[in-house]
Amino acid sequence: MLMKNKLISDLKKELPCVLDTLEERYAYSQDATNLRQISNIADAVVFVETVEDVQRVVKIANKHKTPIICRGAGTNVVGACSVVHGGIILNFSKMNKILEINRDNMTAIVEPGVVLGDLQKEVEKLGLFYPPDPSNLAVSTIGGSIAQSSGGAKSFKYGTTKDYVVDLKVVMANGEILRTGANTIKNATGYNLGSLFVGSEGTLGIVVEATLKLIPMPESRKVLSAYFDTVEDAVNAVNSVIEQRIYPATIDFMDKNALQTVEKFYPANLLTDKEAMLLIEIDGFECSMNYQENIIVNILKSCKACEIQASHNDEEYNKIWTARRSSMGACARLKPNVTTDDVIVPRENLAELVLGIRAICEKYNLDVCMVGHVGDGSVHPQIPIDYSNEDEYRRYKLAKSEIYDLTAKLDGILSGEHGIGSEKRKHIHKVVNSVALDYMRKIKKTFDPNNILNPYKIF
Ligand SMILES: Cc1cc2nc3c(=O)[nH]c(=O)nc-3n(C[C@H](O)[C@H](O)[C@H](O)COP(=O)(O)OP(=O)(O)OC[C@H]3O[C@@H](n4cnc5c(N)ncnc54)[C@H](O)[C@@H]3O)c2cc1C
Repeated sequence: MLMKNKLISDLKKELPCVLDTLEERYAYSQDATNLRQISNIADAVVFVETVEDVQRVVKIANKHKTPIICRGAGTNVVGACSVVHGGIILNFSKMNKILEINRDNMTAIVEPGVVLGDLQKEVEKLGLFYPPDPSNLAVSTIGGSIAQSSGGAKSFKYGTTKDYVVDLKVVMANGEILRTGANTIKNATGYNLGSLFVGSEGTLGIVVEATLKLIPMPESRKVLSAYFDTVEDAVNAVNSVIEQRIYPATIDFMDKNALQTVEKFYPANLLTDKEAMLLIEIDGFECSMNYQENIIVNILKSCKACEIQASHNDEEYNKIWTARRSSMGACARLKPNVTTDDVIVPRENLAELVLGIRAICEKYNLDVCMVGHVGDGSVHPQIPIDYSNEDEYRRYKLAKSEIYDLTAKLDGILSGEHGIGSEKRKHIHKVVNSVALDYMRKIKKTFDPNNILNPYKIF
């Protein structure tokens, strides 16, 4: 207790905003991961405003050998912000400035607490585009999305966060500042340290500034909703579209359960009697839109799509995407808890994954709403559950483990975009070999010898 008091008094002496009441610490000791119970409570929550603030916290954390858990909006779904061994929550919500949008370089320099959707809106005003779009981009931050290598529906055509990080300024575990590159679009100058930090879940360094690549905003965009009478037909249509050398911005998926659940939560005129829907967004020059649409509609018809609708204006476009993005919120209404996942396989194995997950959930008598960025081979099985029901929780755990086994069998990996955090770490060996895991541990030790940066996450 004395040690904790000393930690808090050190922090309060050096930092402008430190929260330390039990209620405040409790509120920041969980993230969007639906856990059965939280394992520990943070010792303090620090709101940083400058790079120097971050360095001060690192110095104090080293002195007290206390973990630092960075926090953007706390919306990750894998327990990446969970406070397993106590520690200091480093809150970036006040470090949220867009420092520069450079039209010549087509880059943006931002602080880590910038909300992703806000950056998108700002660059769009200049005819530019930052494509990574996790479904909750209205709240999640750039720092969190770099740390989780977030993706979203548009990653099919445009890639994920890792494809847009040009340069990072990082406070290391010993307080030094490391820069991973420069404001250049290409960099073949030594090891690609930037890629180590992307997806490292705050375990290797603290991102305090990021330079991000922007691309020209497509002139026009439109979304097609194609409905199918079987899940197999929908999944098989994905490959047929791609085989015709048309490259849509997104190919997303909702199954019947998801359609019905979302429609009750956010009425969007979804056809709730159909077994599955694909959301296919096309973008590009205005003059190419009809051409692309015609080709895709013909393919979808030949793949047994029973109904195809197209958005005609921004209102219709936004409505259908809001419906898709609401799926987890909608699912949360079915039972007291809801969990999601983001397993991913080579696209040729997608049908087997989707049908396999359904079969596993049926076997364990669990409800599941399936959505996913299926163009990438990625599926989000959202499972509503009542954690207070011991038997249901036991069945859920068995189902999850089998879903990961199936993913491994289908040459897939455990996360395409959400990360591993504390939730999936005990399964990572199913898809990452022991030599690779050993090197990950060595890298962690080199970057963070005192194990203070978000310890006991990923592996
Ligand atoms: C409803 C819903 C839908 C979602 N849909 C998608 C989706 O479609 N695609 C997708 O990819 N994800 C999705 N996610 C997951 C989530 O949006 C992402 O993981 C998100 O980008 C995390 O951002 P955040 O600001 O909330 O980060 P947090 O949850 O606060 O933190 C995430 C990780 O980043 C670390 N971190 C935060 N800031 C820093 C920093 N400055 N330096 C170093 N480490 C840092 C934290 O320690 C933690 O390990 C969804 C989540 C929800 C709740």
